[in-house]
Amino acid sequence: MAFFVFPPAAPTVLAVSGGGLFPVRRVFCVGRNYADHVREMGNDPTREPPVFFTKPADAITTQPTVPFPSQTKNLHYEGELVVAIGKEAVDVSVDKALDAVFGYTVGCDLTRRDLQAAAKKAGQPWDMGKAFDFSGPVGVIHPVDEIDHPTQGTISLSVNGAERQKGDIAEMIWSVPEIIACLSTLVRLAPGDLIFTGTPAGVGQLFRDDRVEIHVAGVTSHVFTVI
Ligand code: MN
Repeated sequence: MAFFVFPPAAPTVLAVSGGGLFPVRRVFCVGRNYADHVREMGNDPTREPPVFFTKPADAITTQPTVPFPSQTKNLHYEGELVVAIGKEAVDVSVDKALDAVFGYTVGCDLTRRDLQAAAKKAGQPWDMGKAFDFSGPVGVIHPVDEIDHPTQGTISLSVNGAERQKGDIAEMIWSVPEIIACLSTLVRLAPGDLIFTGTPAGVGQLFRDDRVEIHVAGVTSHVFTVI
C-alpha cells in the first residue's frame, strides 16, 4: 500500500476578501517592468520581452512579521501589484488573458540585492537573491467581482511612514494582460498561481524593525515588519 513517508506540506493559503481561501500553486515575478526602475538599476528600458523569475509557493507569507533573511547585507523592498490566477491559461491572447484572473493583491518582492548582483555579474541564476524563505509578503486577495481589473492608480511603498516608492500601475511596460499572454506561452498557468508584476523606482534597503506598507489604489494595502 502506498503511503506518505512523511506528511505532505500544507499549502500556502491567502485570505480572499468576501470569504474563502486561495491556495497558492506557483509564483511568477516580472522583472524590469517600470521604465524608471529599469533606469535606476542601470538597464535600458527599451521594451523587450518581459524578464520572468519565480519564487517557491512557501516563500509567500501573509504574516505581519517577516524574519530578516540570512546571508545578506543588503535586503531590498520592491512594492508590486500581484495578480491571482483563477483559471487555466495556455497560449492565451492578450484579449482573452484577463479571463484567467481571479483577483488582485499587493506584495513585496523582497530581494537579497547583494546576492542578486553577484549572480547577475557571474551570469548565474537569481534564485538565492529572490527566492528565499519569506521573500514574498502579500495581502488579502480582492476578487475581480469586487474591484474589477485595475489598469491605473497609484502604487506606493513606505518604510516607517516615509514614502520611498511611488508610481502608477498604468506605467507598467508590460500590462497585466500582456504579462499573462506572454507567460502562458512559456508555462501552463493554473488556478492558484500568483504573478508579481514588477516595481516602480525607489527601491532601497530594509533593516530589522522596519515597518513596510504597500498600497495600490483601488486594490488593497499590506503592512509587515521586518524582525
Ligand atoms: Mn520585483
